[in-house]
Amino acid sequence: MKSLVLEKKDELSLRDFPAIDREEEVLGPRDVRIKLHTVGICGSDVHYYTHGRIGPFVVKEPMILGHEASGVVIETGSEVQTLKVGDRVCMEPGIPDPNSRATRLGMYNVDPAVRFWATPPVHGILRPTCVHPEAFTFKLPDNVSFAEAAMVEPLAVGVHAATKARVKPGDIGVVMGAGPIGLVTALSALAAGCARVYVTDLAEKKLEIAESLSPAITGVNVAKEDVAALVKRHTEGWGADLVFEATGSPKAAAQVFEPLAPGGCVVMIGGQPDPVSYDAGAAMVREARVENIFRYAHVFPRCVAMLSSGAIDVKPLITRTFEFEDSVRAFEIAASAPPADVKMQIELPQ
Ligand SMILES: [Zn+2]
Repeated sequence: MKSLVLEKKDELSLRDFPAIDREEEVLGPRDVRIKLHTVGICGSDVHYYTHGRIGPFVVKEPMILGHEASGVVIETGSEVQTLKVGDRVCMEPGIPDPNSRATRLGMYNVDPAVRFWATPPVHGILRPTCVHPEAFTFKLPDNVSFAEAAMVEPLAVGVHAATKARVKPGDIGVVMGAGPIGLVTALSALAAGCARVYVTDLAEKKLEIAESLSPAITGVNVAKEDVAALVKRHTEGWGADLVFEATGSPKAAAQVFEPLAPGGCVVMIGGQPDPVSYDAGAAMVREARVENIFRYAHVFPRCVAMLSSGAIDVKPLITRTFEFEDSVRAFEIAASAPPADVKMQIELPQ
């Protein structure tokens, strides 16, 4: 069966990819072999397709895309204990060096040696099967679908951001950006205890989607309304306890402290390819705490548990599903960034 290959910038094909079969012939004692079921299209996959690079990561050789995945275990290594053939699973796509200093300190996501799916030169998983460590493969409860499970990867970013923010019950949050990551961050902040989350964007349709997710979400169109003034009006002039920057826009990043309450926390989520301005004075007078996140660590089991319990519902974020044979077209559509779409997914033939 074929894989979805980014041949080079702007060129995708569905074709056999013998190199990956050779790479995965061996199943390590603590690995499992997984038949892929559902794969979400991430902004980073689309960015590699349209730009051929993200920052220092450049696509120099054909690369298989995809890193948001769920599937079924079809083979287990000799020492695997927690998984068996037939288990439905989702996978954490970044594999660190288990002995690295970062990993030993518990910060495996910032291990410089981490190998992350669909980040050159590592292949992604829009292909029939993959081999993955047991330690980064998580069993799904029966009531979590493959589609929801393929949302765990983006959701993990929001849950990691809420964890770093140290949300307290009743906090007021602002999430800048109503893209998929902004929306999972808003859901995570609410699940962590926020009383209200203001979600900002320029696109009215995205704000409508945000508000449809929860009565505790208020959409703010920053083309028409000043979010800092609005939040202060609703909080007796105090401001938001937490501000999550999920746009990656330098303009938004320059304004993160404006809606923030004294003693509040800003979490920088959106990637910034270039240095951005930072209002140190505004941060100082608030004694603002600033956190940065890089992907996530230790949150996949929490995400799965919240999907299973209903604490977080990601189903409304899945707006389109494509057959694997249509995956080139799916990427073309995703690259055009339709305003009514949040997450598009691809289902592999079973
Ligand atoms: Zn992703």
